[in-house]
Amino acid sequence: MQIVMIGTGYVGLVSGACFADFGHHVTCVDKDESKIDALLNGRIPIFEPGLDALVESNVAAGRLNFTLDLASVLPEADAVFIAVGTPSRRGDGHADLSYVYAAAEEMAPLLREGAVVVDKSTVPVGTGDEVETIIRKVCPELKFSVASNPEFLREGAAIDDFKRPDRVVIGVNDAHAEEVLQEIYRPLTRNDSPILTMSRRAAELTKYAANAFLATKISFINEIADLCEEVGADVRDVARGIGTDSRIGSRFLQPGPGYGGSCFPKDTLALLKTGQNYGSPLKIVEAVVAVNDQRKSAMGAKVIEALGGDVAGKTVALLGLTFKANTDDMRDSPAIEIAQALQDAGITVRAYDPEGMETSKAVISNLVYCDDSYDAMTGADAAVIVTEWDAFRALDLGKAKELLNRPLLVDLRNLYSRTDVEKQGFEYVAVGR
Ligand code: NAD
Repeated sequence: MQIVMIGTGYVGLVSGACFADFGHHVTCVDKDESKIDALLNGRIPIFEPGLDALVESNVAAGRLNFTLDLASVLPEADAVFIAVGTPSRRGDGHADLSYVYAAAEEMAPLLREGAVVVDKSTVPVGTGDEVETIIRKVCPELKFSVASNPEFLREGAAIDDFKRPDRVVIGVNDAHAEEVLQEIYRPLTRNDSPILTMSRRAAELTKYAANAFLATKISFINEIADLCEEVGADVRDVARGIGTDSRIGSRFLQPGPGYGGSCFPKDTLALLKTGQNYGSPLKIVEAVVAVNDQRKSAMGAKVIEALGGDVAGKTVALLGLTFKANTDDMRDSPAIEIAQALQDAGITVRAYDPEGMETSKAVISNLVYCDDSYDAMTGADAAVIVTEWDAFRALDLGKAKELLNRPLLVDLRNLYSRTDVEKQGFEYVAVGR
């Protein structure tokens, strides 16, 4: 298959490289010259484990290319994937579809007969209909299909998720689109990954329902963690106690500083907006969003309380800035609000993140960026773990104690055992314990 991927970000680049690894011929297109330039020169513009080797081997095999010039590759394409961003529209939370529609307009005059346009971006119900209308206006006689194929990969484990997915969702309204997508994903049937075929609208909604459900698990366990702190129970016991029930499942039951990232915050808001537009409100999702918003600000207050309240002039070491480990993505990271709350209270924030320092500089100002965890802790009145990076799981607490002004560890990811930390002479504050 000849595949063109429009948008070479986290999703487009990983999907494009994996499709090439399946044996397809893929060209990834982007408007961002610096991205395409980096890729043409063998550099990967994002941090994603394993992606550099995958891109390198498929470029070497001649199956993966990059270009700024859509017109040079589109006329050959059997399938054209749209993998551009769909951020929250300012003001009302609806997904901003301007990039998707712009891509549809650009591709319309270039599509060949029988081409399948596949929307991989996360888009509200009905977007596929609109993409079809846009293309149809430009080429009324052309035979083409528009399909939905939402992506479920997680940053940090994206390649494995793509190659061994729990399922692939294909939303199609015609047999030709189904055939082409089945052919593209055929290599996955060897791993027994189910390929679920449904209508385009059902596929579009499936992606939002999945993310909203996962966000619900997180907000749920975060509220249970708060209750645990009040009643003197350990939330890890409760999570184990409920998670072993196969109807519930143990994943996404780790309490923490609230969900962030490029998907859950914007996708829950967009789903609420769809519910409003169709007169079918989603009260559970409304509560999930409210709980998460409140959670992020509560975490700054938790650190201030651990420090004793009178904090102006104090210094805090923030360990971790990205919204989760193994990514450099800072979009909607809880660290942004935590750092802001601490700075507003007059605290100097020294920060370290293994991969997120550069992306962080664009979104958080006035942090003291440090060389490593120990540099961040030097002279600080507390160390606060915000992201569950492996680098923070086995800190040398003896060394940390010598460097810190006050041996206080606030562990917002529950990485440590209270006994171990307290044995080293630390005060320890965790979540839901
Ligand atoms: P991203 O911002 O990393 O990448 C989008 C890319 O599209 C950018 O490089 C941008 O320059 C490019 N682009 C925009 N308009 C273009 C055009 N007309 N032609 C060519 N390139 C264009 O975004 P992302 O994180 O990869 O997300 C893409 C979509 O996938 C979003 O809808 C997102 O919700 C969804 N998604 C993301 C993830 C994730 O973990 N990041 C997971 C599943 C689904």
